[in-house]
Amino acid sequence: NGHLPESNVDVLIIGAGPAGLMAACWMAHCGVKTRIVDKRNAKIFCGQADGLQCRSLEIFDSLGFGDRAWKEANHMIEICMWNPGPDGLIRRSDRIPDTIVGLSRFQQIVIHQGRVERFFLDNIKKYSQDTIHVERGVLPESLEIDRSKVEDDSAYPVTVKLRYLTEEEATPEQQVTGSKVSDGIFRSNLVQEDDEDDLIQKSKARNGTGEIVHAKYVIGCDGARSWTRRALGFELQGEATDFIWGVLDIIPITDFPDIRMRCAIHSAEHGSLMVIPRENKLVRLYIQLKEVTPDASGRADRSKITPDVIFGAAQKILSPYKLDYEHCDWWTAYQIGQRVGSEFDANKRVFLAGDAVHTHSPKAGQGMNVSMQDTFNLGWKVALAAKGVAKRSILGTYQSERQRVAKDLIDFDHQFSRLFSGRPAKDVMDAEGVNMEEFKAAFLKGNMFSSGLSVNYGPNNLVVKAGGDDGSNSAEVRVSADAFAKSQALATGLPVGMRFNSFKVLSQADARPWHFQEKLKSDGRFRVVLFAGNILSTAQKQRVDKFCEALDAPANFLRAATPAGAPVDSVVEVLTIHSAKRTETELLRDFPEILHPFDQHDGWDYNKVFVDDVSYHEGFGDAYTNYGVDKERGCVVVVRPDHYVGWVGDTDDFDGVQKYFGGCLVLGQKAELPLR
Ligand code: FAD
Repeated sequence: NGHLPESNVDVLIIGAGPAGLMAACWMAHCGVKTRIVDKRNAKIFCGQADGLQCRSLEIFDSLGFGDRAWKEANHMIEICMWNPGPDGLIRRSDRIPDTIVGLSRFQQIVIHQGRVERFFLDNIKKYSQDTIHVERGVLPESLEIDRSKVEDDSAYPVTVKLRYLTEEEATPEQQVTGSKVSDGIFRSNLVQEDDEDDLIQKSKARNGTGEIVHAKYVIGCDGARSWTRRALGFELQGEATDFIWGVLDIIPITDFPDIRMRCAIHSAEHGSLMVIPRENKLVRLYIQLKEVTPDASGRADRSKITPDVIFGAAQKILSPYKLDYEHCDWWTAYQIGQRVGSEFDANKRVFLAGDAVHTHSPKAGQGMNVSMQDTFNLGWKVALAAKGVAKRSILGTYQSERQRVAKDLIDFDHQFSRLFSGRPAKDVMDAEGVNMEEFKAAFLKGNMFSSGLSVNYGPNNLVVKAGGDDGSNSAEVRVSADAFAKSQALATGLPVGMRFNSFKVLSQADARPWHFQEKLKSDGRFRVVLFAGNILSTAQKQRVDKFCEALDAPANFLRAATPAGAPVDSVVEVLTIHSAKRTETELLRDFPEILHPFDQHDGWDYNKVFVDDVSYHEGFGDAYTNYGVDKERGCVVVVRPDHYVGWVGDTDDFDGVQKYFGGCLVLGQKAELPLR
């Protein structure tokens, strides 16, 4: 290695799909020195994932590009179910809302993965001040962890040798040579072989070059056939099914009446089909391929799969309706299977995320969402640990939190794909067939899961709730079931472990309505939300004053977590929502200074105190009622940088908040850099 250049970096991300880009995005927002490499060049992108769930949109909004996705995408409002009537012909049997009503301020939309990746790239460029770029045509050749240094905060214990590819090497081959329509077979799970060795050999043969990178942390986001996972010696566990599905992105010419609705169609004999209406007149069809079956080894012959075969299957399923097309944008095929990784990290230094640790069928539109949410969970933890703001021990929560989600996803997909790929039952005696009522029930239940909003993290040092006696949290934050029930009762609409729900509140200073979630920007900061209650009552004002006095004390977490010279809200931001009348309350008179800190250059901070009151133009959010908080006494809620509720307690329980931050942040000893 003597002749190869060597350098240090805080975080090295391998793979620039949705998971890798989300990780890079956090690093850009938190100001962490980061590199991100991808073995492919950029030029072939279309197709692949397209569904964005409400939780992903909430996340995008907190990063600053939710509006772009929302405007450009096709919105999916209703799902229609089609299955055989008594005459054996398909007919519409049900309509249900696509997103459960009232669940989020966003609903499910569709837009192709290439656009989502573009939004990320623009955002990363902006927030990293153009210092983080995807380095394309670069792939890792070896990875070593110096195990003697993994607990050393200042060390760079992971060494990765990178190799540069030529433009030609970085361009994947297409299934149908010379075709104008791109396909995604090279990325499909029908391809078993890995091309890394081949690429490295080619590069060696032409005396290609590379470099050595020493990293504090490595995040492997290199997809279902992850090189990083193989380098760590980890495996995915699970199995493939015999179900093969094709995918076509076309502009359909058809008399099928629901072509602009999301549809789940079960034909009597020819298999199933899902319709996903998309942007730019496109429609994606997921089509079960009954005539292509895996061989004895369990693998399907991918040379038999062509757009014509897939299209022929679609026509049969949709019959007696006619289906044709002139324009095909992209196509692929995949074999349904469910697999999940047994390990998500090595020594809390190298992490795996996204398809690298869980694979399943794409129809429920989960892969991209869950993959991005993996690194949305991981990114800030790595960023804060790399900067010395948070304790390294919080990195253990990545596996415990996300593996549970991955397993739930696999179970959901297993059940859902069997019901979808099965033939509909002819009558009650037809035990082999799928009961359509059961399918509808699974679909409705699945809708909650697939919104991404049913995630509920278990107890650990970032989620203080009952349980965790297995050592998943440290003794100082452990709570008994009784004590937890009492504190959770203070905010029944904000379950600890779930994402902070959003209702409208008004800014005390200027009366503008805000969805409270809009104030939870993804910038790496924890938040303490002080529900100050009725601030005009003398008794309540005294309690708030006492809490604020403790907040302000130099030895306590707020100041002890803040690097010297940095603003007091750099690591933890305090936001207030009170319930007195806006017009009877004065920001400077009624609220202690720590709730609207003063800065010599900028004056008071007018952006931190909110009121639960009626707006002029946008009605009443009724936030206290919706959050289940008492309007007189209020309470205190800790929100993690990824918007999950970490702790709920009484305004009198400053000690509880102090312990929470003692469990996860480095207090006292100042971190290296200001956060932003
Ligand atoms: P990937 O997107 O696979 O990205 C991995 C990246 O790593 C790639 O850019 C790759 O070039 C790079 N890479 C791989 N190996 C190396 C290496 N050795 N070195 C450097 N770089 C490497 N999900 C949804 O949420 N909704 C949907 O509607 C949906 N529809 C889908 C439809 C189809 C047809 C398919 C195939 C998938 C669909 N998915 C969907 C799933 C979704 O595409 C994936 O789950 C998602 O892309 C996973 O993101 P990722 O970042 O983990 O991996």
